[in-house]
Amino acid sequence: MLYEEVALLEYFDMDQKTKEIIDSLHSYLEYLSDIGVQVLPLPEKKGAHTLEEVRAELGDCKRCKLHRTRRTIVFGEGNPKATFMIIGEGPGYDEDVQGRPFVGKAGQLLTKIIQSIHLQREDVYITNIVKCRPPQNRNPEPEEIGSCNPFLIQQINSIQPKIICTLGTFATHTLLNTNTKITELRGKFYDLRGIKVFPTYHPAYLLRNPDRKREVWEDMKQILSWLGRLTEGTQPAGEDKR
Ligand code: URA
Repeated sequence: MLYEEVALLEYFDMDQKTKEIIDSLHSYLEYLSDIGVQVLPLPEKKGAHTLEEVRAELGDCKRCKLHRTRRTIVFGEGNPKATFMIIGEGPGYDEDVQGRPFVGKAGQLLTKIIQSIHLQREDVYITNIVKCRPPQNRNPEPEEIGSCNPFLIQQINSIQPKIICTLGTFATHTLLNTNTKITELRGKFYDLRGIKVFPTYHPAYLLRNPDRKREVWEDMKQILSWLGRLTEGTQPAGEDKR
């Protein structure tokens, strides 16, 4: 069943008072949209933790089976107050050895992609949806993604980026809560509680399919222009697709 269908069924099950609240919130959001408000800022996160606190809570994590085969927990790195956050899938061999995200071949390509929009790795925050390497670099399983998700959400709440670039299918599906194909989702702006989410292809996919690189350069141009409008102080609306 589609997410929207579940939401609709849940709506029908609600009591009258709850429906009224949702309807008036809906009208208010429509009104804001009519007057040109495209992005609702995340409320000040009173309970947001520092990245050090989130890392401490993660501890020597054994919440899913990936802990049995990992060497290192790859938490993430970069600017703790980054405007621009990048989320990949999960550590590979090199990342597992070094304890840092995107340091292997795909990471070197990611570094070039970051530099193409006139930023350095230190300017952005880079992490993954799972913090431990899946054996043989297999896809992360839903239960593993689910175990790590509260920590990813806490990282986002702590950093409060303005825009998140999701790399590849798993990061994009996790953040946008959808199963739509990455080929359809990439290159567009989406909204996650006031944060822009912009999916593109994963650099490891680009290494296998170099002819897709051109699309990623096009995607990066969109991010660059969005960031440019953000620094100029003009409202960078982006074109929300949801
Ligand atoms: N691929 C990822 O998704 N993340 C990394 O950190 C490295 C490779």
